[in-house]
Amino acid sequence: MTSHRGFTTDVVHSDKAFGSEDGSVHKAIHTSTQYGFDKVEDLIGVFQGTKKGAYVYSRQGTPTTAALEAKLTQMEAGVGTVSFASGMAAICGVFLTLLRAGDHLVASRAVFGNTNSIFGTLGDLGIGVSRVDASEVEHVAAAITPATRMVFVETLSNPGTQIADLEGIGRLCRERGLLFVVDNTILSPYLFRPGSTGAGLVVHSLTKSICGHGNALGGAVVDTGLFDWSAYPNISEVYRKGDTRQWGLTQIRKKGLRDMGGTLSAQHAHAISVGAETLALRMRQTSAATLEIARYLEAHPAIAKVYYPGLSSHPQHERAQKHFLAAGWLLSFELKNADACLAFIDRLQLAVKATGLGDTRTLVIPVAHTIFWEAGAAVRAQMGISDGMVRLSVGLEETADLIADLRQALERA
Ligand code: PLP
Repeated sequence: MTSHRGFTTDVVHSDKAFGSEDGSVHKAIHTSTQYGFDKVEDLIGVFQGTKKGAYVYSRQGTPTTAALEAKLTQMEAGVGTVSFASGMAAICGVFLTLLRAGDHLVASRAVFGNTNSIFGTLGDLGIGVSRVDASEVEHVAAAITPATRMVFVETLSNPGTQIADLEGIGRLCRERGLLFVVDNTILSPYLFRPGSTGAGLVVHSLTKSICGHGNALGGAVVDTGLFDWSAYPNISEVYRKGDTRQWGLTQIRKKGLRDMGGTLSAQHAHAISVGAETLALRMRQTSAATLEIARYLEAHPAIAKVYYPGLSSHPQHERAQKHFLAAGWLLSFELKNADACLAFIDRLQLAVKATGLGDTRTLVIPVAHTIFWEAGAAVRAQMGISDGMVRLSVGLEETADLIADLRQALERA
């Protein structure tokens, strides 16, 4: 679904395109769990697949989640979306509904901690996972086996800001008939559309950039329409019907929502939908602020290293410039004196000491002691996460205020 209008124009008018109820300009919050039918044949038709597009039971979606899904499909220029209760539910939905015992997955080593944890679960279920340095396509190519079905990367890894070789991996997957799945949580479709580099599925934690206000959990899987599902062996016979571009999402919706039940609530779908309306404004503001903060930190004598793709010192800076509209709001850095890291964070007065990302408020966290604690020292070393690494999720405060706060906290570091 492509449009010639601007990104935000489409987003703010998306609900209207879905049909206005009583003149309401927002899609209403539909709380009904049951949907009734005048005729029993229609109810039977829903179960037997002859009546399409009807709501039946809210575990499989509501008019409110459907309106958000249409908005996300438009934002990623895809062919369909399934929403979930959280980003992790969306990621599990992809892995658990599309992979089977004996299959193999190639994944970037630089991924969010809980995604990394799920790779262990996949191993327990008999699904092989090879973790590679995905910044160069050669490493991905070398890990592919005859059992490989899927390649999984994050566009901009959390917390190390590594950028996978998106173009190279997209090409490789196309040549080998593999499904390329990209977690686009951090950048959002305003800054980058993974479909432009060949991703077949895009996953999101909607909790972050797209909702943007730290007030709702959500996740989504968007199909870009680029992958040929008719050649994918794991689609059940029952879902091999109609438009082949919908086969993957149909299986994800039936297995991931109907059977596993990780459904997004209508209330959260509404909050995310409203948050999405200001996505472009927030991404422009936070990207500009984060670049200024990154430059300030890079020049500071107490700082050893800054990880931000907007800086020319970043190893994939040129890749970011080529593919991304701007470098986003995620920034990590290391203090020269790693032992001073916790006291430095305690001295910050504006940044909230909290896990989570993509809020209107700036959030700060020591990475090794928290989100990567359970992973253990060996995995942290492999992922390049030092004991002194600090992650910043830059919010909407005035940039000068954020820099003043960092300055006073660094004075004694
Ligand atoms: N993917 C990425 C890149 C994330 O950073 C996160 C959470 O931080 C998730 C997925 C999981 O999302 P959620 O917290 O909505 O389950």
